[in-house]
Amino acid sequence: MVIHEELESNVKSYCRSFPTTFGKAKGSILYSSDDRPYIDFFAGAGALNYGHNHPYIKERLIAYLQEDSIIHGLDMYTEAKQQFMTDFQEHILSPRGMEYKLQFCGPTGTNAVEAAMKIARKVTQRAGIISFMGGFHGMSLGSLAATSNRSSRAGAGMPLHNVTFIPYCDGYLKNFDTLGYLEALLSDTHSGVEKPAAVIIETVQAEGGIYVAPAQWLEQLAALCKQHDVLLIVDDIQVGCGRTGSFFSFERTNVQPDLIVLSKSISGYGLPMSLLLLKPELDVWSPGEHNGTFRGNQMAFVGASAALELRSNENLDQSVLQKGAIIENFLRNEIKPLIPEVDIRGIGLIWGIDFGGCADPMSAERVAKACFQAGLIIERVGRNDTVLKIMPPLMIEQDLLLQGCEIIKQTIRLI
Ligand code: PLP
Repeated sequence: MVIHEELESNVKSYCRSFPTTFGKAKGSILYSSDDRPYIDFFAGAGALNYGHNHPYIKERLIAYLQEDSIIHGLDMYTEAKQQFMTDFQEHILSPRGMEYKLQFCGPTGTNAVEAAMKIARKVTQRAGIISFMGGFHGMSLGSLAATSNRSSRAGAGMPLHNVTFIPYCDGYLKNFDTLGYLEALLSDTHSGVEKPAAVIIETVQAEGGIYVAPAQWLEQLAALCKQHDVLLIVDDIQVGCGRTGSFFSFERTNVQPDLIVLSKSISGYGLPMSLLLLKPELDVWSPGEHNGTFRGNQMAFVGASAALELRSNENLDQSVLQKGAIIENFLRNEIKPLIPEVDIRGIGLIWGIDFGGCADPMSAERVAKACFQAGLIIERVGRNDTVLKIMPPLMIEQDLLLQGCEIIKQTIRLI
């Protein structure tokens, strides 16, 4: 078997934050080849909201495979796709009174972001996109242009055509009035500032460092977009599918985005799938205008249908909020007193401990490494990777959640 050190000869772009070779995984625990358990506070970067190998989703996938069913279907109308579309309508859209068309865009999140930006440009006949500092939307050239991450973009000499970055919610930059600035941008008719096609936003910046936009601010942003006839794209790729305590992250507001992008956990089992939801009147595509070979993965449809069923049966949203409260409590009462300089931010089951204000912000790296040695998988995010991101599978058991938090606490004590 190839051991992880040998993989060092593989391309240098790979991040190797978790230096072991993993063999198996179940629920919220991964096991290394030598059978060491690791609690998962990473959840496949948000692709494993239902944990690893959820038994019900697995059973449905195995049953599908055993029937010699269609595995690859492009745009064909298949039973698996039909089932998913019906389930999505019944479990997600109809109960919320939402009317959207579903477009399967390709295997991964960035494909849906590209589709959203393309259709916004076609509908409005304008080219500009407004994005936010700290925002992350993907690694292909279009989505990367809307991603404000120096290390991902720098080497590619990325031309930043048509994207304007503005600070995230008010307070992200001290005393900066983001909405006032945006209003000035959108209202300017004198200085040749082109009106953009769309604003793209994550309601919680995940890779950007766990910043939660206040509900009222999001509502004002949406109102501003509407007033100026600019489309609003909500990127729910990481914090959608239940992460914040509701299926869509914007359900804590009255915002109805024009376009919504989903991926990561939509298939329930870590299978590749991305989905663009567009208001029906925005579907101005010509046949074949936006496609790709791996749009519409049949196994992902099967997993996604099973996951939607699980959601409604297990009252997942309520348990996410309960467990979120446990984490918040722990962070504020057990971690903050240990290092008062850290900032604690989060919602639902995505939380951050920001070491940026500490005398040594890079202690975040040491904590993450020591946590791994102690059996916890935890990632760092944020402008300088100073934020420890707590993002377990939504189905994590409470005692495992507390065990993971305790590892962070003991580790912080030691460094
Ligand atoms: N948008 C957000 C908010 C993300 O977090 C990510 C990935 O982390 C993407 C888009 C890109 O998704 P993918 O990596 O599947 O292309």
